[in-house]
Amino acid sequence: MNNFFSFIYRHRFDFFYSFLLFFFLVATIIVLPKEETKNIFTALENKTFDIRQNIIAKDKKVNKDIIIITVDDPSYEYLIETYGDWPIPRSVYAKIVDYVQAQHPKYIAFDLLFIKSLNRIPQSDNKLIEAFKKYDNVYTAINFDDYSSNLRIPPHIDDKLKSNISFDKNKLTPLKFQNCRIIMNEIINATDKIGHINTPKSDDGFIRTIPIIVNYPKFDKNNFSEIEDNFYLYMTVKLAIDYLNKYEHQNIHELKIDSKNNLLLGSRKIPLTQDAQTILNWYGESGLNDNKTFTYVSFWEVLKSIEAKALGKKELIPQDFFKDKIVYIGTNIFSLSDIKTVPTSKYLPGVEIHATLLNNILDNNLIHKADFPYNLIISITLAVAAGFTVFRIRSVVISTILFLSLIFLYLYYATYIMAKYNIWVWIVIPLSLALFVFICSFIIKYLIKSRDFEYTYKLATTDGLTELYNHRYFQEQMKLHIANNEKTKDNFSLILIDIDFFKKFNDKYGHQAGDAVLRHVAKTLKKSVRTQDFVCRYGGEEMTIILNKTDKPNAVKIAEDICKNIASKKYELNPDLEVNITISLGVSTFPENGKTPTELIEYADKCLYKAKENGRNQVGKLD
Ligand code: GH3
Ligand code: MG
Ligand code: MG
Repeated sequence: MNNFFSFIYRHRFDFFYSFLLFFFLVATIIVLPKEETKNIFTALENKTFDIRQNIIAKDKKVNKDIIIITVDDPSYEYLIETYGDWPIPRSVYAKIVDYVQAQHPKYIAFDLLFIKSLNRIPQSDNKLIEAFKKYDNVYTAINFDDYSSNLRIPPHIDDKLKSNISFDKNKLTPLKFQNCRIIMNEIINATDKIGHINTPKSDDGFIRTIPIIVNYPKFDKNNFSEIEDNFYLYMTVKLAIDYLNKYEHQNIHELKIDSKNNLLLGSRKIPLTQDAQTILNWYGESGLNDNKTFTYVSFWEVLKSIEAKALGKKELIPQDFFKDKIVYIGTNIFSLSDIKTVPTSKYLPGVEIHATLLNNILDNNLIHKADFPYNLIISITLAVAAGFTVFRIRSVVISTILFLSLIFLYLYYATYIMAKYNIWVWIVIPLSLALFVFICSFIIKYLIKSRDFEYTYKLATTDGLTELYNHRYFQEQMKLHIANNEKTKDNFSLILIDIDFFKKFNDKYGHQAGDAVLRHVAKTLKKSVRTQDFVCRYGGEEMTIILNKTDKPNAVKIAEDICKNIASKKYELNPDLEVNITISLGVSTFPENGKTPTELIEYADKCLYKAKENGRNQVGKLD
């Protein structure tokens, strides 16, 4: 049993480290796979994406061929004054289309929904329907939702709007919607240039991704069940495909998704996440601000120009302003709830998301996330480097500086490859791991150091044979005790012990047996005193005890008890041999018998001599 405890004691540091490691491993295994933990990491990682986007946005150039006509606040006020409530008569949009078409733009795309049920004025609606029939370069939108109530049965959308894109359903699961707010049938009949404009937000309300493909499954109205998946493309993707075919002769007819989930559009790639979304590469602060990145024109300016043109007056908008341009029409006012928050802008008109996506596709600079193994290798490399700085470098300051430099270097690298190669590498997990390893390494390093220190300290202060304090330590303690007791005006006593006839014992039984007896006596002495007393090996077979706060009579009493105790116990040398050991003792007390270590030792030694003289196995006295 004793061996067991001493084993535990000797290996206490190893047990401690193992426990620590085990604790962290278990904690990691329990905490990491939790959905909440993943969400926290994702949210933090998204924030690092935003910061990187803001840093690199300055160097991106927007495509000047993209123009946005917005219903801004002044336009909204003007429209409400002129036409009454929102939505305005659809003939107004028809007028705008005619006006812009006269300048031969490449495309016009409405980021607006011409909802079937809203504010129908047949004559006015017909004008817009006619416009869709007349021009084959005008796009408009449908929007899916998850409205679930018996009031609105999921409407059927004409099959011609479906995308017959095929992909591996194990690798790609587009977002699924249950319902749709149907737009005017006449428009669907007039054109197939219709795509969805759904923009789901991240948990923090930011828009970072756009669902390129969504699933609006065909619904059985009788038993409310899904019959088949139907996939729809984002409006701007439809426009981009037509653009690439017509103006770059890319010949994209069948949509293909490669093994890495990239939607291939000729020479352009749209990297898709697992839910068929793409991560946009943002162009900076925009929309409501003066330093707009894309070219904006107010809706009212266009209307005023139309009026001026009809009257033969000077138009607000320059001639040929829309020539060869891609024109998006949308709103940017809060009251129509089309203001979005994106990484680089707190208030971004929803319509600018289309402009951003189109610009990203044409520039081929949509963001793709680095593969998992790549992120993993980076995390491990950083963690190893963090541990290396701690264990290989002696100075705490230098290793900390190196570690911080490592982190800054990595942050720079992560930003650089996003700017240059549009790659999103993890920041949060690699840095957390590196920091964790860095801190753990420091803890381990100092635990090892303190273990080394404790071991060296023990070597320096104890005697190897008896495990008592050694001579040097005894002398130091004498000085300390004298200094302390001088201050407190207290006494302390010293007992000097010598084994009787030890030379003979050695001669008779050998040195090994002598050593065993030394250990036995040392152990007995240690057991006989309090924890605050010091038992030391003075040298040879002589030992000392410093009894703190003990006066002469008490010290003599303790010495006599020890003497009797040793003499009364038979010591078993081996199973067949028991021997009797006796000791002689001398006692001195501070300050009455001496005020220096030498004086006290001398006095005790004299007493000891007296004990030997008087026949040994006793406490010697001078008076
Ligand atoms: P006494 O003190 O009773 O007068 O007789 P003694 O035989 O003990 O005399 P002395 O103190 O002079 O002898 C000391 C002996 O102790 C000498 C040496 O053989 C023995 N001795 C000293 N150190 C050790 C040690 O580390 N191990 C062993 N086995 N013997 C030791
Ligand atoms: Mg001796
Ligand atoms: Mg002796």
